[in-house]
Amino acid sequence: MSKVGETTLILDLASLEHNYNYLRSKIKPGTKFLGVVKAFAYGSDMVTIAQKLEQSGADYLAVAYVAEGVLLRKAGIQLPILVLHPLASNFDDLMAHHLEPSIYSKNILNQFIEVAKAMKQTDYPVHIKFNTGLNRLGFSEDDVDFIAGESKRSECIKIVSCFSHLAASEDKNERDFSLDQINTFKHLSNMLMDKLGHRLMRHMLNTSGIINYPEAQFEMVRSGIGLYGYGNQAEVDAQLRPVATLKTIISQIHQINANESVGYNRAYRSKRPIKSATLPIGHADGIGRQYGKGKGSVVINGSKAPILGNVCMDMIMVEVTGIDCEEGDEATVFGTEKSAEKFAANAGTISYEILTAISQRVKRVVCGA
Ligand SMILES: *Cc1c(COP(=O)(O)O)cnc(C)c1O
Repeated sequence: MSKVGETTLILDLASLEHNYNYLRSKIKPGTKFLGVVKAFAYGSDMVTIAQKLEQSGADYLAVAYVAEGVLLRKAGIQLPILVLHPLASNFDDLMAHHLEPSIYSKNILNQFIEVAKAMKQTDYPVHIKFNTGLNRLGFSEDDVDFIAGESKRSECIKIVSCFSHLAASEDKNERDFSLDQINTFKHLSNMLMDKLGHRLMRHMLNTSGIINYPEAQFEMVRSGIGLYGYGNQAEVDAQLRPVATLKTIISQIHQINANESVGYNRAYRSKRPIKSATLPIGHADGIGRQYGKGKGSVVINGSKAPILGNVCMDMIMVEVTGIDCEEGDEATVFGTEKSAEKFAANAGTISYEILTAISQRVKRVVCGA
């Protein structure tokens, strides 16, 4: 990996391909694969990742919001794109860019049909989302008649899939709950298919679902975090490769005497003489204040350097006492040398949060293409 001269998120497309192939190896050959690229592809680079997944043979992509899908279309992505959480105010934009909505409530279905009619659509592909226990978005059993009725009445839409989402797919203690969700989904999708009189593509599994509930692959799976190299459990992490590595450099080194303080609010006070390094990365880059006061650390020349005191907007100071380093040397925040999962866990959060937090100010560099 080449040396960086500023804070840089290095994206390794060879690792993405490795993870994609690993996840594919866990599903039946005929099962479709949807790559989730919402939130800038989990904080990396949405267009680059989507292009690579398209080349690698993914069948579908998913984003959370319409504007994300529009960006993909403007970059020339051709794959079908499922919008997981579209809002009615964006339906015209969604249709203009051939994005496929998740339809999750009566209200959303009615409004979608209205806009689809106005835009003179026929058989516009839509995906029905069932709530099977997450209690976030989705229809319930009581709504199935309504969905089927509206679908038959309205030539402007065509239901192409139904899906649901597991609440605790990574948690083995919630296995019974997850199996209940899977059974509920089977029941609801059978009801809907009976009433419609045709089959639908069905999908339920996210990354941890693919690993823990292989019997529930149905016709498609939806993976996000696994593609980026994290599997929510050590055995899976061991098989995956982090796509994103966050690096920065040492801007300045200070000798701090005993009884001096470092940073805002004097949150670190030295009991003994130490050496500190100032790095050009802060909470505006995505390293939240919860990583301060030693909860977060970086790796400099192979050694751990904990964050001293509070995280500033544009900088952190780390302790490098006893580490052979100089101004301009590289520091790794997370990635290949140290997983984002571990970095996050020390501050009480998860890989998903630290990955998606890396702000647009941080330069992205692609390798392994
Ligand atoms: C984000 C999301 C996924 C991907 O989940 P991972 O745990 O990252 O694999 C799948 N389905 C839905 C509905 C999502 O919101």
